[in-house]
Amino acid sequence: MAKTTLHCSFCGKNRDEVKILIAGQEGHICEACVDHAKEIVFQEVESKREGKSDFKLTVKKPVELKKHLDEYVIGQDEAKKILSVAVYNHYKRLNQPSNFGKASKKQDKYDEVEIEKSNVIMVGETGTGKTLLAKTIAKLLNVPFAIVDATVFTEAGYVGEDVESILTRLLQVCNYDITAAESGIVYIDEIDKIARKNDNPSITRDVSGEGVQQGLLKLLEGTDVLVPPQGGRKHPDQKLIKVNTQNILFICGGAFDGIDKVIARRVNTNAIGFNVNKGVQDEMKNNLLKFVNAQDLKSFGLIPELLGRLPVVTYLDPLDKTTLRSILSEPKNALIKQYSKLFDLEGIELNIEEEVLEFMVEKAMEYKLGARGLRSICESILTDAMFELPSSNKKEFTLTLEYATKKFEHTKMNILKVA
Ligand code: ADP
Repeated sequence: MAKTTLHCSFCGKNRDEVKILIAGQEGHICEACVDHAKEIVFQEVESKREGKSDFKLTVKKPVELKKHLDEYVIGQDEAKKILSVAVYNHYKRLNQPSNFGKASKKQDKYDEVEIEKSNVIMVGETGTGKTLLAKTIAKLLNVPFAIVDATVFTEAGYVGEDVESILTRLLQVCNYDITAAESGIVYIDEIDKIARKNDNPSITRDVSGEGVQQGLLKLLEGTDVLVPPQGGRKHPDQKLIKVNTQNILFICGGAFDGIDKVIARRVNTNAIGFNVNKGVQDEMKNNLLKFVNAQDLKSFGLIPELLGRLPVVTYLDPLDKTTLRSILSEPKNALIKQYSKLFDLEGIELNIEEEVLEFMVEKAMEYKLGARGLRSICESILTDAMFELPSSNKKEFTLTLEYATKKFEHTKMNILKVA
């Protein structure tokens, strides 16, 4: 039944039930409804303001992160664990209420405690999965992620300023969403190549190494950095974007060729009367990298200031035959699975004899190519088949050891070795 007396058109209360009733052209509104409307408008405006970036963090627990890594990366348990924790803590740090200014006003005994970011440095031979680990974790994350190579800064020969273009990569992957980029993760590969010169014979490029390290300090410690939007060198009339690196997590990786000698010297494995049991001694001999620490990295040529900003040090195991064999077929994205899919798209079923897989592993070990070499070995063995089969009517192809050996003997890889 329509109300005849004056009433609020929003809540329906009569004139005598409210304090104020404001008249509009066709209706009225009471003071309570005005308050309520104000609240809605305020919330809407606030959410729009925050929502200028669509960036949203999803927290994943370390165990979940590691589980995801396990699906794609074989072995490297220690590095996986350490990386998972570092990434998780990165999330936590970003999500801590004070960062968003929304904390309850209640005083807390940890109010004064500021969690510093735990940038990571990974040491391991080339092709053992450093980049793969970083890439894989990136897939799972909801933060922008960029991979950059430390050597480009040395090669450009333009030290100091160019390191900012690391952030350009990050901005590009998130479409220049600065809020998102400021919570991103950057993987800096080949960090060992910017080591300053010391008596290590593997380091040849030194001229600019230390300068680049100095340049990186600025980024790693967390300051406002002016970034050229298109990368490259800065020039005077370029518009620069201000990015704060306070919440960007940096993961560095490098092979650090020859660092085992540095570690050996430190842990003194050969010392007479070395007072650890045989098991530990053997382990030390097998994989000295396990014992790597910041001191070794300093002896290798990284400056202490840089190491201070990379507090988490971890290592990757060298790949043995068993691991290489697993890498061929076990990961979700394993090479053999990829080739099988390629053949399948052609309507051909690919069967590979176990002996062939072992042969591939043997060759990768023999040529010291590591996991990266497995791909070139597969490619050299299967190229002819991939060339011919699409034009044939075959529905099945079985790769035998005889076929594989024959094809491999004619590859550039093998010819080069013989020469
Ligand atoms: P690097 O340590 O030099 O960064 P990468 O991560 O680039 O090595 O590894 C090269 C390739 O070798 C990867 O793309 C991947 O196919 C393979 N690979 C290396 N290590 C592993 C591993 N532990 N598990 C699975 N695949 C691996």
